[in-house]
Amino acid sequence: MSRPGSETPLLRVRGLEVSYRVGVRRHMAAVRGIDLDVRAGEVVALVGESGSGKSSAARGILQLTRPSAGTVELSGQELTAIRGRELRRARRDAQMVFQDPYSSLDPSMTIGEAIAEPLVVHTRDRGDERRRKVVEMLERVGLHAHHADRYPHEFSGGQRQRIAIARALVLRPRLLVADESVSALDVSSQNQVLSLLSELIADLGLACLFITHDLAVVRSVADRVAVMYLGTLVEQAPTEELFAAPRHPYTAALLSAALVADPRIQRTRERIRLSGELPDPRHPPTGCAFAGRCPYAAEVCGDVPALRALDDGRAVACHRAEEVVVELGASALRTTTITRER
Ligand code: SF4
Repeated sequence: MSRPGSETPLLRVRGLEVSYRVGVRRHMAAVRGIDLDVRAGEVVALVGESGSGKSSAARGILQLTRPSAGTVELSGQELTAIRGRELRRARRDAQMVFQDPYSSLDPSMTIGEAIAEPLVVHTRDRGDERRRKVVEMLERVGLHAHHADRYPHEFSGGQRQRIAIARALVLRPRLLVADESVSALDVSSQNQVLSLLSELIADLGLACLFITHDLAVVRSVADRVAVMYLGTLVEQAPTEELFAAPRHPYTAALLSAALVADPRIQRTRERIRLSGELPDPRHPPTGCAFAGRCPYAAEVCGDVPALRALDDGRAVACHRAEEVVVELGASALRTTTITRER
């Protein structure tokens, strides 16, 4: 998918750090200094295993958790520098769709009431005007006006996620953060919700940060992909380039683990199996955080690799990115061939 997006980023994140208190005096760094830009009309996928820090990054960006360092600018306004009413007003421009379509809607509220709630909190819209906006959003997500008077239990998982999207968009935000928004759905509902999201992003000129552990769903929706590992970004690239030739060994492993639709291809391709577990973020390793699981680890990896730009326009945090040759089948992740050089 190729959506050009404007040149000036709508969301500009620099040096974002998010920490949580563990115990009396200790803190755990869940996000350890990331830079990220998202332009209007652009979808950037933030990808990583559970525990990589991607949801903490989203919470830090939306100021749901106050970052311990770094800046977040939305439409030129520095969210990290404002508080109280000013922050609440700015947050209207950034809305989130959560993972679980079953728990994100209050079962005692009708769909119409749920979609109208942000209008009640943030606007002076009343009566017909409020109802008009609710119906307009219902129709935009493929539902009908009469659905407004029904309750969440009367809808399927895919429909509930459409309702959650309608609720997130009723204030006409400029940034949508979708946190594992299709992970709980079956494949057919996933595809429908992804294509609805793509359509809405293009029509409304939204910027979208799409958070997922599953690279397989990224390809149809994202313009760029940022891969997170233990609180840092390890690779950023345009989606097709990343799928065609990942340059970080962790990205290659994630890609090789992604499911392929064609079962014949799925059976024949080689899978990169990582040894070990994601390190405990309370005790991050020194040097490259991936070294304990990396088939290319060498002496140089005792130093932390910075995220650096490569000749082909992508950025990667690996000392050996130029040496690591990783070829994944460009169109369908067909085969996996790795040249290991030690
Ligand atoms: Fe592997 Fe070294 Fe690159 Fe880290 S810096 S990903 S350990 S090769």
